[in-house]
Amino acid sequence: MTYLTLSHIEKKFDSNHVVKGFDLAVDKGEFISFLGPSGCGKTTVLRMVAGFETPSAGAIHIDGEDITQQKPNGRNIGMVFQSYALFPNLTVAQNVGFGLRVAGLPATERDARVDEMLQLIGLPELSGRYPYQLSGGQQQRVALSRALAVRPRVLLLDEPLSALDRKIRVVLRDEIRAIQRRLGITTIFVTHDQEEALSISDRVVLMNDGVMQQCDVPHVVYNRPANSFVANFVGTLNKLDAEVVDPAKGVVRFAGVDCQQPHDLRSIPAGGKITFAIRPESLQFGKGDTNEITLPAVVEDVSFLGSVIRFSARVGQQQLSLDTFNRGSAPPPQTGTQAQISFTTDDLLYFPSQRG
Ligand code: ATP
Repeated sequence: MTYLTLSHIEKKFDSNHVVKGFDLAVDKGEFISFLGPSGCGKTTVLRMVAGFETPSAGAIHIDGEDITQQKPNGRNIGMVFQSYALFPNLTVAQNVGFGLRVAGLPATERDARVDEMLQLIGLPELSGRYPYQLSGGQQQRVALSRALAVRPRVLLLDEPLSALDRKIRVVLRDEIRAIQRRLGITTIFVTHDQEEALSISDRVVLMNDGVMQQCDVPHVVYNRPANSFVANFVGTLNKLDAEVVDPAKGVVRFAGVDCQQPHDLRSIPAGGKITFAIRPESLQFGKGDTNEITLPAVVEDVSFLGSVIRFSARVGQQQLSLDTFNRGSAPPPQTGTQAQISFTTDDLLYFPSQRG
C-alpha cells in the first residue's frame, strides 16, 4: 500500500535545476535508498520530504495527506544526519527524550519510551553519558533512537554511516535495517555507497543530474540496469566490442567468433560496430558449453581479493576483468598464461547509446 508519494517534483535554486520530474511511490514499511554521484540531488529530495526545502513544483503526500507546504515540525518525520548532531550538553537519555519533551509527553511516559529506545539500539547502560563519552557508532545509534523516539511516520537517513569506520558501518547498517524491519517504519536512506544501498534496501533509486534513472529491487538494478549510467555506476563493467554480422537474426562476431545474441540489432547495418557490456563475474575461464561463447585470451594480471580473485585478461585488443571465487584448492591461472574465456550471451548488456 502506497504511503509516501512524491509527484512530479521539481527543485530549482535560482537557475540551477537540481531535481527534475521526480516521481516516487513508497509503500508503508518499505526501505528505499537514493544512490547516485555527489551533487545529483539526493539530499535535496530528502530535504523536501523533511520540509527543509520546498519543491518548485509538484506535491508530496504521506498517508494521503498533502504535506508539500507543511512546516518541518508539523510532519512527524524522523531524520538522522551524517554528523551525529547530538546535543553536547545533554545526556544520552536526555537526547533521546528531547523530542518527547518538546511534544509535551508526561515524564513517566517519556522515561518509559527512552528506556524502550535505548533497549532497541542496545545501549541501555549508556543512558547517563554525554555525547563526547561515546564512540562515533554509539553516537549514531543514539541519533537513530532520538529520531525514532517520537514514533515518526517516516524515517529519513542522510548518509548516516559515512563518518564511521568500515567495520562499524557494516555492523550499523545491518542494525538499522533490523530495527527498521522490526518497527515497520517507512524509510529513505541517502548514500553514495552502492554496497550499502544494494545490501539493505527493498528498492534502490538511482539518480543522476537530478533525474531518476531507475527504481527497482537491488538485483534488477544490478543485473538489468536501465541504461549505461546505471550499469557503470553500480558494479564493475567490461566493454566488449563486436561486429554485427546479421542484424535481423542478431548475429554478431567477437574476436572472430560468430554467435547469436538476444538484443534487437535491426537498427544497425551488417558490418556495423557495436559495444556490449558484461559483468566480470559473468565471464569464466575454460571452454563454455555448446550454447556459450568461448574466446581465446591471455591472462595479464591477477589480484587476490580474499573471497574473490580478479583477473585482467586480453581478448584480441580488449582488456577484460574477470572475477572468480577463491576456492582455495586449485591455484589460479598465472600472469602471462594463455586461457579461454567463456560466457553466455544472456549476460550481455546492450545500451543503444553505447553503439561504437
Ligand atoms: P552529495 O552526495 O554530495 O551530498 P547530493 O546528491 O545529495 O550530493 P544535493 O546536496 O542534493 O546533492 O545537491 C544537488 C545540487 O543542488 C548541487 O549542485 C548543490 O550545489 C545544489 N544545492 C543544494 N542545496 C542548495 C541550496 N540551498 N542553494 C543552492 N544550491 C543548492
